[in-house]
Amino acid sequence: KQILDFKPYTPGLTLEDIREEYGVERVIKLASNENPLGVSPVVQKVLGQKAAEVFRYPQNHSPRLAAALAERLGVEPDMVVVGNGSDEIIDMLYRVVAEPGRDNVVCYEHSFSMYRMCAKLCGVEYREIPREHGLGLPMEHLARAADEHTALVFLTSPDNPTGLAATADEIAKLSRALPEGALLVVDGAYAEFAEPQDIYEAAPRLAELDNLVLLRTFSKAYGLAGMRLGYGIMPAWLASYLRRARIPFTVNLPAEAAGLAALEDEVFLSETLRVVCEGRDYLGRELAALGCEVTPSQANFLMFRPPSDATVFFEGMLRRGIIVRHLKSFGLPDHIRVNMGTESENRAFVSACRELL
Ligand code: PMP
Repeated sequence: KQILDFKPYTPGLTLEDIREEYGVERVIKLASNENPLGVSPVVQKVLGQKAAEVFRYPQNHSPRLAAALAERLGVEPDMVVVGNGSDEIIDMLYRVVAEPGRDNVVCYEHSFSMYRMCAKLCGVEYREIPREHGLGLPMEHLARAADEHTALVFLTSPDNPTGLAATADEIAKLSRALPEGALLVVDGAYAEFAEPQDIYEAAPRLAELDNLVLLRTFSKAYGLAGMRLGYGIMPAWLASYLRRARIPFTVNLPAEAAGLAALEDEVFLSETLRVVCEGRDYLGRELAALGCEVTPSQANFLMFRPPSDATVFFEGMLRRGIIVRHLKSFGLPDHIRVNMGTESENRAFVSACRELL
């Protein structure tokens, strides 16, 4: 009965869905915040080589990747947990620290659906507090909603779907204001796209704040969404709990190799950041000129409110072979989220906007 009542995760529409339904040849997908440049050529080469090794099990817990990440981040390897996407780290956190029927988790409305979904699946109360006026991050109110049974407090920064980011001071203040035992999970899935970068440096943050968990992913800036690779940086005691409780081998052998290669390919990362930042400025300007209310973004997407009906806008885009995200699924039926594509995809999106608005 509980499973029948459960609302599963709804992924964005796929290229195949749109090709079939609308009969369009060229489909442009700007709905799932994927990398506009595709997969790094360095990673592709490594993946080809790894094909011959997949008869072997991977090393459990991806120790080589955890060590490489730790070195870059300036933390100990036992503070890094590599997962099947950061989704898996979120799931593990719930299963390890939140006690069903007793504990609660705090987040705010219009946020990433996994936090709510895991709460439901784990039988944990989910406290969803209102956002600030203008859909801002309700930093002050998060701490007030937490109590002695709060296991996790989620903050997405840069935030999905608004693109707004918290400051280092705000995060530190929130961490210190939480009751004893509550962990602050800062989901930085889009951290690479933010300015300034220093607030995402793990080592000083974790040294200063002992209840902090940072989540990162290879799905966005590193172009590996389909490999399913993410990681959490957290106090060593917590990381050891996660490693103890996890299902073996959830990160497969090619995924670990792809992650290691992606970290080395700095050219691909910097080109990604250039294309995304230029695209963000361009789309922000054009959408505002067309009368859209655009939220300033630190991520690889923009949230906006079109001057006319968002459902009509969304469907008009689909008919033109462009998939964006209608934020109805986030409880924001008047808003649209679009991620930055290549220059030519961005131009195609803007010309479709001009026709529709
Ligand atoms: N957190 C946020 C805020 C996200 O938007 C996403 C991707 N949709 C994730 C986590 C999950 O990322 P991953 O692909 O690493 O599981």
